[in-house]
This record gives sequence, structure tokens and C-alpha cells, in this order.
Amino acid sequence: MGLAENTADGHEAIFTHRDPATGLDAFVAIHSTVRGPAIGGTRFWHYESSDAAIADALRLSRAMSYKCALAGLPSGGGKAVIRATTSGPKSPELLAAYGAFLNRIGDLFATGEDVGFSLADCERLKESTPFVAGTTSAGNGDPSEHTAFGVFHAICAVSARLWNNGSDLAGRRVAIQGLGGVGGRLARMLAAAGADLIVADIDERAVRRAVSELGATEAATETIHAADVDIWAPCALGGAIHPGNVNEIRARAVVGAANNQLTDANLADHLMRNGVVWAPDFLVSAGGVVGAAEEISRVPGRAAPPAAPIDQRLRAIGVRTGRLLDEADREGVSMLSVTLRAAEAMLSASPARIAGMPE
Ligand code: NAD
Repeated sequence: MGLAENTADGHEAIFTHRDPATGLDAFVAIHSTVRGPAIGGTRFWHYESSDAAIADALRLSRAMSYKCALAGLPSGGGKAVIRATTSGPKSPELLAAYGAFLNRIGDLFATGEDVGFSLADCERLKESTPFVAGTTSAGNGDPSEHTAFGVFHAICAVSARLWNNGSDLAGRRVAIQGLGGVGGRLARMLAAAGADLIVADIDERAVRRAVSELGATEAATETIHAADVDIWAPCALGGAIHPGNVNEIRARAVVGAANNQLTDANLADHLMRNGVVWAPDFLVSAGGVVGAAEEISRVPGRAAPPAAPIDQRLRAIGVRTGRLLDEADREGVSMLSVTLRAAEAMLSASPARIAGMPE
């Protein structure tokens, strides 16, 4: 196992481990443990090089620090990436070697599912390490439910601000891009609240289900970002908003779960100038990590998460989103700007101080 401490861009550590016998080539980046041990999913991906894998781990672990801090969790940000060498299933030996690597990192980091690393993988990983969440046998299961609930409340909060209608979503037109774990659940929550849905997914079956069960209207995946709606919820892959499509967005607000929605942070200002509110993904998609942190807190020696019931802490994502939108409006800046400032402030304060802060 290799270790580099205090990396150039402010991360606390990067752990590396290569195990030729099982093909494991893994990296764990720890951005911050100021608020508590780091948490972050494991990405299993065909990276071209170790440098590309490390760069991804560093980028994603910083976002996890912000996400955890904003969600008021006693957790820091980290991320694991494993270089995939085959497209077949992960061998039990590889998962066991990965579990042993996590055990050696110990109390500094715990992980969960992410792109290419499924809940079933988490379940198998749990056989060799306690430092994993998102398991159904002993934990909170699929984090998508919590994530969708948090995004739903963020949409309610934004809607209340923009249309001055409380959190009533009746008749509100919402476009959902991606009807997977999060988007599918979000669609059901929004439909139950009376919203009119426009949906797109490359999976035709998911679209047909939403059309027949929720009365949704189908849109093309290439054009859903330009749908004539009130709110667009990107819930598919990252990079949904880029210089080529930013001026085509007709929604009044973008509030969705997809990670890394902006290909360039400057697009947040661009959207604001276009009159579009963009609610930062790392603010509104924190529901999954709220559930995961609770599960990880059951590992002996871990700090307990805030005492409030999980339902209340997921609703707090909406409260926080509304407050940060108000703050951005008052200052005439983007939501990204005030959200980053809030996250940095929370990262530099102790968890005890933060626990005393109003939600
Ligand atoms: P998922 O894989 O279950 O669902 C993604 C869906 O998007 C799939 O149905 C897929 O077919 C569809 N899709 C892919 N490309 C598309 C395109 N171009 N247009 C339309 N649809 C497309 O993933 P998920 O768990 O629902 O996560 C969705 C997003 O939210 C991801 O970016 C993820 O990183 C982020 N996120 C998820 C969680 C969570 O708890 N699962 C938490 C935080 C953030």
C-alpha cells in the first residue's frame, strides 16, 4: 500500500494499492477529515492510466467533502477508484483484496456504491470489511431512495421561491432526464405531488413505464434539456450542461441529482445571466450520503450522525437549498458561489460548532 500525504491541491492523503494476483489497482483519495472520517463511493471504471484514475478520485473526493459538510454530517470527503481491467464481473478475490486494503486504511475512510460498483458489490465487500455502506443485509440499502427524496424537497423549495406558491407542485412542469435509481423514484414523488412530467431515458422501457404509470410525456434524450418546462432535473450522467447547450435551456431552474452537471464552473454565472437558477448538485443530491453516514456510524468508534430522524435531515436539504437561493438572490450572485462559500466555511469549522448552527 502506498501513501502520499498533503497533496498539492489540499487533499489530506492518497492511498494506492496494486495486487497483481487479483488484478486490483485501487486508489483512495481523502480530501478532508476535519469534520470526521471520510466517506465516498467506489468508482470502478476503465481509466486509461493511473494518473487519470487519481485525478478522478481527487476531483470526486473534494465534492464529497462539500456534500457532507453542507448536509451537516460528522464526515469528511473521500473517494475510491478501481481501474477495471476486464468488463466481466468482479471476482470474489478482487473484492476481498479491496476489502483488505480498506481495512488497512482503517477508520479514515468508508465507501459505498458508485458508477460500476453496485449494491451487490457492496454486499460482497461487506464480507471482508466493515467500512462499507449501502448494503441491504445490514444497512440502509439502495441510497437512491434517500437521494430522490432530498432532490424532491430541493425542487419544492426552489418552486416555492420562484412561483411564490408554498411547496405546491400541482401543475408544475418538470423534465426528468434519466429514470434510473434516482430519477425513477423522483418521477413517482413528483407525480404524486401533482407535477406534470416530461421524461427522457435511453432505456425505452423506463420511459414507457413513466408514460403509462405516471402520465408522463416522452421527450428525446438529445433535446430534453431544451424542454419548455419550469424545472429541469438532470438525473443521468455528469456534464449535462455544457457550452454547446447552455443557451438552449428554457427551464426557469435546474435541480437534479446527476453529479458534476456543469462541464465548467463558469457556466453557473452564464446560467444566472440567462435567468436560470442552477441548484448545485452537491447540495441537492446529498440524500444518499445522509443515509450512508448513518449506516457507517454503526461501525464501532464512529461518531453518531445528528440525532434528528433521517426523514427530517432529508427534508433539511430543501430548507438549506431555499436559504442559499435567498442568499444568492440578495447578493445578486449564483447559487454556486454562495453554496461553495457555505461549504468552505463549514469545512473550516469544527463539527461541534456546526452542530449548534441552525438548519
Ligand atoms: P442509474 O444508473 O440508476 O440511472 C441513470 C439513468 O440515466 C439510467 O436509467 C440510464 O439509462 C439513464 N441515462 C443514461 N444516459 C442518458 C441520457 N443521455 N439521457 C437520458 N437518460 C440517460 O443512476 P442513479 O443512481 O439514478 O444516479 C443518477 C445520477 O445521480 C448519477 O449522475 C449519479 O452519480 C447521481 N447521484 C446518485 C446518487 C444515488 O443515490 N444513486 C446520489 C448522488 C448522486
